[in-house]
Amino acid sequence: MAKRDYYEVLGVSKNATKQEIKKAYRKLAKQYHPDKNKSADAEEKFKEIQEAYDVLSDDQKRSAYDQYGFAGTKGFSGGGFSSEASWGDFSEAFGGFGGSLDDLLQGMFGGSFAGFGNSNFKAKSHRGRDLEVSISISFEDAVFGCEKTIKYKRYKTCGGCNGSGSTNKKTKSCSNCNGSGRSVKIQKTIFGSMQMVSTCEVCEGSGQIPDKPCGKCGATGRVLTEDSLTVKIPAGIPDGVTLRFEGRGDVGPLGSESGDLFVNIEVEPSEIFERRGDDIYVDKKIPVYTAVLGGIVEVPTVQGDVKMKVPPGVQSEKVLKLKGKGAPRFRGGGYGDQYVRLIVEIPTKLDKEEKELWEKLRKLKE
Ligand SMILES: [Zn+2]
Ligand SMILES: [Zn+2]
Repeated sequence: MAKRDYYEVLGVSKNATKQEIKKAYRKLAKQYHPDKNKSADAEEKFKEIQEAYDVLSDDQKRSAYDQYGFAGTKGFSGGGFSSEASWGDFSEAFGGFGGSLDDLLQGMFGGSFAGFGNSNFKAKSHRGRDLEVSISISFEDAVFGCEKTIKYKRYKTCGGCNGSGSTNKKTKSCSNCNGSGRSVKIQKTIFGSMQMVSTCEVCEGSGQIPDKPCGKCGATGRVLTEDSLTVKIPAGIPDGVTLRFEGRGDVGPLGSESGDLFVNIEVEPSEIFERRGDDIYVDKKIPVYTAVLGGIVEVPTVQGDVKMKVPPGVQSEKVLKLKGKGAPRFRGGGYGDQYVRLIVEIPTKLDKEEKELWEKLRKLKE
């Protein structure tokens, strides 16, 4: 599949703000999350979205992408078109350009051609996968903050070899590539024979392989383990926010960098309250005589019940504001406000005395 432009993937313009990019990402990530979206291409789409976001959300990566396109986001990875290209180590790769044109070209073409200078092939860093989990929290927990323990599976460093893949923690030179990390093949083309260089598939470019392969992890240096993480959810968190926990995704093979864990927060709705940002909206039914004469009514707020003054002659659907009685602000201190919509209740059943009084009232006005 041809790679799509990252801006196109997220459906944002080239000069989108960080906020716009984040918003677009969240929306799409939710839509294509493989746990929820069962269509055949959901996982692929999801990866594409994550990759685009990874680059566009990082100033450095984004400006490199704007300048050099996809090549700007890749390291000196041998297999330039591998689906597992390491997106996490751009700065390292960029530092490696060293200002020379040959180096730059080599970086851009993923080292597929021999003869662009003698830059060292760097071992491809197989960053561990990013993981994503969704948790659902109650309305009240979202308003006041809470702690949740998330259980999930991820690759962790193997204890048998301490992530090295070798029980004696030593490596030896790869026999497939004689420790060079690359394999050279001669290919016939219309221009004659060409030397094609690619990353060694045995050592994946490092030139080293485990000396005594660890049986516990199949010499990969990592094992799939049930893990848990206690997450502090800040007060006032909005629905649909994604929290990122660096390094809590899969550990990469052979001790390489870990991916991140993304935790999507879903806030369950409340039966009483509706939240918009830091403000709370609530409906309050009031008897018709309170609407006519005014009075004091008790209103629920997330901070507890409060007494509210209703002015005389209030109309149904009138909205009154209780300042500072909303949710704690997600960013910055203080509280939002609560808006109370008054619903005037018209009595449907009247006893004898009431009926007489209403009749009397009518006569008075007619
Ligand atoms: Zn091991
Ligand atoms: Zn090798």
